[in-house]
Amino acid sequence: MSYIKALKCRECGREYPKEALHVCEYCFGPLEVAYKYDEIKKSLTKEAITRRPANMWRYRELLPIEGDPTVGAQVGFTPLIRARNLADSLGVKELYIKNDAVNYPTLSFKDRVVSVAISRAREMGFKVVACASTGNLANSVAANAAACGMESYVFIPFDLEQTKILGTLVYGSKVVSIQGTYDEVNRLSSEIAGKYGWAFVNINIRPYYAEGSKSFGFEIAEQLRWKLPRHIVVPMAGGSLITKIWKAFKEFEMLGFVEGIEKTRVYGAQAAGCAPIVTAVKTGSELIKPVRPNTIAKSLAIGNPADGYYSAKVIRESNGWAEDSTDEEIIDAMKLLAETEGVFAETAGGVTLAVTKKLIAQGRIPVDESIVISITGNGLKTQEALQGRLVLPPVINASLKEFDGLVKSLEKKYAARG
Ligand SMILES: *Cc1c(COP(=O)(O)O)cnc(C)c1O
Ligand SMILES: [Zn+2]
Repeated sequence: MSYIKALKCRECGREYPKEALHVCEYCFGPLEVAYKYDEIKKSLTKEAITRRPANMWRYRELLPIEGDPTVGAQVGFTPLIRARNLADSLGVKELYIKNDAVNYPTLSFKDRVVSVAISRAREMGFKVVACASTGNLANSVAANAAACGMESYVFIPFDLEQTKILGTLVYGSKVVSIQGTYDEVNRLSSEIAGKYGWAFVNINIRPYYAEGSKSFGFEIAEQLRWKLPRHIVVPMAGGSLITKIWKAFKEFEMLGFVEGIEKTRVYGAQAAGCAPIVTAVKTGSELIKPVRPNTIAKSLAIGNPADGYYSAKVIRESNGWAEDSTDEEIIDAMKLLAETEGVFAETAGGVTLAVTKKLIAQGRIPVDESIVISITGNGLKTQEALQGRLVLPPVINASLKEFDGLVKSLEKKYAARG
């Protein structure tokens, strides 16, 4: 049973059939999936959701596929951790980490969008899936395409982390490395999508793909026992995730599953070396001015974000704010998260935590209200960022005497540090 009503232009409201379309022919506005909310209201309850298996498809009425998912049936329902140690360190009362660093199967939130996109692409009859990626999307498209026996093409900027390149090649995907930035990769991919007729998950079937991100928001609300957080900090690349978390909260409120959305504030996080959306929020501008990225947070390095305008709007509408963090702050935050909570997040997680710290210090996020930090990718994939930033282990021979000596010298070192 499908609850997709149509595709609808976000600007002029014109409706289109639920096909592989993404821009309005009249005003060039982006298309979005519209649902038969009246029917969903009649048939979907919190109790029904709670009884379903622990994956993102427990919200399937609110996800844009017609049949059952044919790939990624196990994606989602990642842990929401009450982060007491980190809360103490930041001086706040109620802090949570939504941990998509352990999402199935490729350890980032991109598995959510990709399972929806590829399931839908198959329903629409596509034989080849593709994407333009800053790394995590590449991993996820390659893995999920392999899992359902589809051919995949992945286009990436040439300077991605080794792990993200190897972690795409291993699935047998056809990877094309482009001498250029993500924005140039994206432009070429749009041309290829038109010419070759492949399903580029984040380009020509983007309306379906993007909806997968809502599950991140649905899960947070359910895991907080059907409550919305007062504050949520979200990393932004193309700016889609942050808009879909907001849409998820609104849909749950509309269905009567949660209340008090007017108290929830959404905050955006970017790296200082690529912060076009943050700049727009801070200057109160409606326009997103493209930048040329230069940051270790490569997964967020999109200089001309497709949903930049809408993410700035969501931030404004919710009375939130946006901040950025330097490479140094990103690394410090990655270490802090690992040392306090045992969570090794990728650079994007460093960005989000560093920005959360800033917003608390600025008094924008009060210390006594619930805060969720969105962790969207795994640190094992961006180890380059920590190269030379951690003290390497001492090397000794396999001798107890040498170890005794080492313990003494370590004791001395810690005593000296106080
Ligand atoms: C892609 C990505 C994001 C941001 O996604 P958008 O929807 O493009 O804003 C955040 N974190 C990680 C780790 C990502 O890979
Ligand atoms: Zn339009």
